[in-house]
Amino acid sequence: MSSPQEIFEEAKKIKHKLGISLIDGQYINIEHHELGRVNQICTHCGAKFWTDERNYNSSQTFPSFAMCCAGGKVSLLELPSYLLDLYTSSSSESSSFLKNIRAYIKF
Ligand SMILES: [Zn+2]
Repeated sequence: MSSPQEIFEEAKKIKHKLGISLIDGQYINIEHHELGRVNQICTHCGAKFWTDERNYNSSQTFPSFAMCCAGGKVSLLELPSYLLDLYTSSSSESSSFLKNIRAYIKF
């Protein structure tokens, strides 16, 4: 006979396998979907993608992507150094900026 701990561990495995999640007090069957790794890189701008984000007409072997730079047609300007510092430095001003970035973007 299994111990309560063994039963609990087995139930956890089954729950994980079936993709059942407890949301707002109710068990909901959520189908597991595996996207794989974000290991595809746009050859034009260096943006990272999942393979499934490739252009519909490109192959899985040689994927191309358009939602970043439209296949190299759009190039972004470099950020002014002040803005780049806000994104990359470890200063308190940068920390505050990143913490409240949604408010800055909104206006
Ligand atoms: Zn790109």
